[in-house]
Amino acid sequence: MTAFSELNALPEAQLANLNELGYLSMTPVQAATLPAILGGKDVRAQAKTGSGKTAAFGLGLLQRIEAGQFSTQSLVLCPTRELAAQVAEELRRLARYMPNIKVLTLCGGQPFGVQKESLHHAPHIIVATPGRLLDHLKKETVNLDTLRVVVLDEADRMLDMGFADAIDEVMAHAPAGRQTLLFSATWPPAIAAISGRIQRNPETVEIDSVDELPAVEQQFYEVSRHHKVEQLQRLLSQYQPASCVVFCNTKKDCQTLCEQLNEAGQSALALHGDMEQRDRDHTLIRFANGSSRILVATDVAARGLDIKALEMVVNYELAWDPEVHVHRIGRTARAGQDGIAISFCAPEEAQRATLLAEMLNLSLNWQQPVSNGSVKPLLAEMVTLCVDGGKKAKMRRGDILGALTGEMGLNGADIGKIDVHPLHVYIAVRRSVARQAAQQIQQGKIKGKSCKVRVLR
Ligand code: ADP
Ligand code: MG
Repeated sequence: MTAFSELNALPEAQLANLNELGYLSMTPVQAATLPAILGGKDVRAQAKTGSGKTAAFGLGLLQRIEAGQFSTQSLVLCPTRELAAQVAEELRRLARYMPNIKVLTLCGGQPFGVQKESLHHAPHIIVATPGRLLDHLKKETVNLDTLRVVVLDEADRMLDMGFADAIDEVMAHAPAGRQTLLFSATWPPAIAAISGRIQRNPETVEIDSVDELPAVEQQFYEVSRHHKVEQLQRLLSQYQPASCVVFCNTKKDCQTLCEQLNEAGQSALALHGDMEQRDRDHTLIRFANGSSRILVATDVAARGLDIKALEMVVNYELAWDPEVHVHRIGRTARAGQDGIAISFCAPEEAQRATLLAEMLNLSLNWQQPVSNGSVKPLLAEMVTLCVDGGKKAKMRRGDILGALTGEMGLNGADIGKIDVHPLHVYIAVRRSVARQAAQQIQQGKIKGKSCKVRVLR
């Protein structure tokens, strides 16, 4: 069974919506879990990153929402603010055909008072990180008495981050008769333990062993530590990927490599756990809208993020854990696109390479390092302008695009992705017109108001 219609449980309007979203058939994890989820059962499912877990639980929980009842009926717990934002966005897409479904995210790093205000009118769905939700529960600013469905997303990662106790505490506030769904990319013993505490007779779904390798071309290069930066640049120059994630094992290496690449004229951004939340947000916005083509990241920072259309993933340092390696290379060639995964192996990393080959049953495809030719740095086509205003100022994508291409005289073809956030709008514009665009916005008006603008660097 692969068509959503074969579930015989989703309304026509949702089937049409899925069609519009380009979800033409169910992914394996959706096909395996949706019958039980829609049947109201507890489900715990393991499937790798990028397999469509969000829609699996999203379609389930939306089916049980009564839009006319203004109470919180679903809760999704996520490990980080970025993942919560992604889940909320996907839920809103899936709920497009349902009028007036309120989805609220509650995460740290956002003002508590503003959240408290938003909670005055109970949202139908809350997407939260465990810590911040607990704060609200303790201050009694949120009420979970009417929950029907609770989801733990990226459960393994939440446990890694030390949220086990917080999850137990949150669950103590949820009604006993709820449906509990648990999703995870890996299945360490602690997951079974938490499932045992919070679920009832869960149906267990396991999609593929984490050892299963995505169908991505893998190339291995023996490169000494000191030659990695140069080799990386040669390979980037040769393949010219539109976008690429380079994985490092530590925050420090991540930062250093990013600086080296930028000094060499490449457009790279770093993503790691020591960064301020705002900088992390900006990095992801800029990478997704084409203002940077190289993201240098640590595993923890990048895990679970739905970064689209990666043509290349580079293991700048080999992972110690084969599962981590599989996750990294699974970031490329999503949804049938072509992709390439490159791994650098310094002589001192040889043991890790052997381990990978053994555990993954992989014959390592060793390549000759590239040594000739000039290096053409990867330059980003776009630049991101950050404009004050955003959702709170009732700025919408259409208004902004209209103002830019109307009185400001910009060419629609020079404007890329527009991200409307609560207090800011991020506009990707072609590098060649960035200055002119910033000036126009500074001097002009959007929705009758003058705006402050700055270029993100
Ligand atoms: P996971 O949570 O398993 O890592 P996501 O839920 O983030 O995966 O989904 C990965 C990508 O697949 C998203 O871009 C999503 O829009 C897309 N997707 C989900 N379900 C389908 C489907 N049935 N058909 C096509 N694309 C899908
Ligand atoms: Mg997910």
